[in-house]
Amino acid sequence: MQYPEPIAKLIDSYMKLPGIGSKTATRLAFYTIDMPEDDVTDFSKSLIAAKKDLHYCSVCGNITENDPCDICRDQSRDQNSVIVVEQPKDVMALDKMDDYHGLYHVLHGVLSPMEGKGPDDINIKTLIQRLQKQPIKEVIIATNATPEGEATAMYISRLIKPAGIKVTRLAHGLSVGSDIEYADEMTLLKAVEGRQEM
Ligand SMILES: [Zn+2]
Repeated sequence: MQYPEPIAKLIDSYMKLPGIGSKTATRLAFYTIDMPEDDVTDFSKSLIAAKKDLHYCSVCGNITENDPCDICRDQSRDQNSVIVVEQPKDVMALDKMDDYHGLYHVLHGVLSPMEGKGPDDINIKTLIQRLQKQPIKEVIIATNATPEGEATAMYISRLIKPAGIKVTRLAHGLSVGSDIEYADEMTLLKAVEGRQEM
């Protein structure tokens, strides 16, 4: 027996989400059908709003409703340092720390020859432009401690060091292969405090 088309479509949609197989998708689809109509309407509206109202900051690449984003516009932040991260999620994680009040730059990925991802495929060009325009003195590279994250850190370091900008790398109390987004505040704080010059 086949599911009625609206359910089949809903299952298909859920299966497009990461980590969701057909079993979970089916469970979620049936759960959705049982939800109050208002909740489903709210849910669908927030999906559309998230897609429509959010975009990437033209300065730092973070996800934002306003362009430039709130962090880039905040003049009370330390304008001399930038933490370079892989994903917008990493900004959220790092900005929970009370002890860092600088800026961020989101690469949207890492260099990965295996996946055919080169320097033009991640947000490096705008970083270079920022370094020319803004009074940035230190770039703290906080890509994850994976082989691709390390290679990306090296690449960026070689690219910007000749301009006389200090380049540091987060200390890895973060264990190898660990993701910044899952690290607790204390670990992140130690990683930033213990950063080392590249
Ligand atoms: Zn921004």
